[in-house]
Parts: sequence; C-alpha cells; structure tokens
Amino acid sequence: MGDPPGCPAVAERQRGIREDADVKTKLLRIDEHHIDPALVREAGAVIKAGGLVAFPTETVYGLGGDALNAESSAKIYRAKGRPSDNPLIVHIADMEALAAIVRDIPESAVKLAERFWPGPLTMILWKADIVPCETTGGLDTVAVRMPADPVARELIRASGGYVAAPSANRSGRPSPTLAKYVMEDMDGRIEMVVDGGAVEIGLESTIVDLTVTPPVILRPGYVTRQMLEEVLGEVLEDNTMMRADSGQAPKAPGMKYRHYAPKGELTIVDGAAQSVVEYINGHIERHRLEHKKTGVIGTDASVRQYGADVCKSVGSRDDDDMIARELYRILREFDDEDVEVIYAESFDTDGIGQAIMNRLLKAAGHRVVHVS
Ligand code: AMP
Ligand code: MG
Repeated sequence: MGDPPGCPAVAERQRGIREDADVKTKLLRIDEHHIDPALVREAGAVIKAGGLVAFPTETVYGLGGDALNAESSAKIYRAKGRPSDNPLIVHIADMEALAAIVRDIPESAVKLAERFWPGPLTMILWKADIVPCETTGGLDTVAVRMPADPVARELIRASGGYVAAPSANRSGRPSPTLAKYVMEDMDGRIEMVVDGGAVEIGLESTIVDLTVTPPVILRPGYVTRQMLEEVLGEVLEDNTMMRADSGQAPKAPGMKYRHYAPKGELTIVDGAAQSVVEYINGHIERHRLEHKKTGVIGTDASVRQYGADVCKSVGSRDDDDMIARELYRILREFDDEDVEVIYAESFDTDGIGQAIMNRLLKAAGHRVVHVS
C-alpha cells in the first residue's frame, strides 16, 4: 500500500531510525490491586520520553508508545517486526481524549462507549490531524479503545493520555497473555515490560468500523455482533472474517498480512466428537510412521483419548471464556516443543466462540477437515 496524499513516506521515515538493538529491558511488577503510583509514573515517563513499554490490558499484553509521536510509532513497528502500513490501536483513558484525536464523535460512538467502554471494543473513526500517519499506518482513520485493566488506565494517564499499542508479540507469534511471553519476544528490544499478571480475556478486542453505514465488524472479539446490534441496530460483518475464500480484499489493512501460524502444520477437525477422535488418531499413526512429532489441541473431556506426542486441553467446552484465555498459551507451547503436525478440535461460534474460531482458523491457514 502506498502512502496516501498528505501522509509522507512512512516507510522512508522508518528506515531513518536506527535498529534499537540491545536495549536493556526493565521488568517492572505492578500489582493491579495495589497500584504503586511511583511505578506507574516511572513507566509513563518512559513513554513520554519516546520509549516503549509493554503493559497488560484485559485482552492481551500491549506494546505501548506515545501515539502522538511519529517516531514512537515507527519504533513499535521495528520492535514487532511488523509492516508499517498495519495500523496501531490508540488506547485512551477518558472520553475527553477521544474528542482530541478524532474529527468528530458520531452518535454511534457515544452509545457504544457508554455501553462497552472501558472494555474490549475498538472503534474506527475519522482521525484528527494531531494523530500522525505513522500511528494509523497511513490511513485517514484511527482505531481507538479505552481498556478496562486498571494498570493500563493508570499507565495511559501517566503517559500523556494517548498510547498506541498493538499486541506485544513479535510479528508472526501469538499475542502474549502473560508478561513472560512478552519477555520472550521483546527482551532487548524495548525499554520496559510491566508485569500485571495474567490477562482476563486472552483474545484481542472486537474492532468495529464506524466510518461506514451500517457499521462493520472487522475483527470478532469478546463484544459480539449481537451485543453491538442491541445498541446500534444493524451491524455487518466483514466477509473475510471467518472465510478464506470470500474473494474480497480485507478492509482492515492488518487483515491482509499472514497472521500467526504455528511452526507445525495445524489442521482443524470438525464433526461429531467420536469421529473427530478417530480421524485424528488415524492420522497421528500415519505421521508417527513418518517420524513426525505430533500434537493435539483437545478439551478436558476428550484430551485423554488422543495418542499424539503432545496432547493439550484448552479447557472445558462449557467454559468458552477459559478456552479464549488459554488458546494463545497453548499455541506458544506447541511452538516451544517443536511439534510438527497439530490437529485441533473445532469450537462453536456462539458468543466469544466466534473470536476463538476466527483466531484458530487464521492459525490453521483455514485448513479445516469435516468428518461425519
Ligand atoms: P492489534 O495487533 O491488536 O494491535 O490490532 C491492530 C489491528 O487493528 C490492525 O492490524 C488492523 O487490522 C486494525 N486497525 C487498526 N487501525 C485501523 C484502521 N484505522 N482501520 C481499519 N483497521 C484498523
Ligand atoms: Mg497483533
């Protein structure tokens, strides 16, 4: 994607910035139940000075920089190894901050904010001039979210009010749900990691585009289409959300990039429980003859029935919040254990299930087998 008029060579600027190699990364533990203001000020000062701080939110850990500082955003792309036309989400802590970074606040945004903010919902709105093109990946729109995590909120305030933060993983890895995973990916690349414990939700925010009528969901998350429709009336879903073969170019620029894919070849197997187990076990036998290390992503009820080298449960089917929270951790573990062939069970797409399946489908490159 080229730079639109008025958005001078984003990539060009980035080349001018030195590789921030060998930064000493400070790990700062902040207890969310007893937030120490001195520690928050210390972290905020790093962002104000143009540095990068990873921090917990209720969705996943974010990699934060000053959203109004073009160089900070350029640094975020470098630290992640992410293409510079993949826009960042700006995190705010109050509604006054929203007014400053968007051209105007539509009625729909006010209603959604009243209902879902602070929380796991990102809104796409027309950007105001003070938001640099580097932050929006060259777009005329800006993605905004007000997170609920208390550490995140305090940090945003201490950082000047506008924190650009994509997920704090290196490009091509699952989003981090624990500070130790942030350290795995970012140690030596950013100034600070704030450890606020485990995240609550475990999957990235729902993204809804409010610059079009009716609004369109670009990425499913904890806030579902039904929840949005209760507030807004009709809401559409981007066609590329759950299907690989829609034949349409994705609307959110980041959606065109290859998402996280595990090192092993991942296949989702969908169908009646017993047929799924039989299918997967049959294929595992075959891979064993090829001397391949095999893995299965199952559930508490099924995991003991599999004969793979590494069998992991994402939790109980009765608790999809837990499945959402565990999914990225499990995927990271399969990478760490160098599993070469992975089979995953399929999940219902009600509620947060749609976000779970959206991430799993992307990780599998939409490779799905249906058995009856
Ligand atoms: P994350 O990795 O959670 O920070 O997600 C950022 C994603 O938000 C990007 O990859 C885009 O898909 C989406 N996004 C951010 N800003 C915009 C925007 N202005 N228009 C459309 N999508 C956006
Ligand atoms: Mg991400």
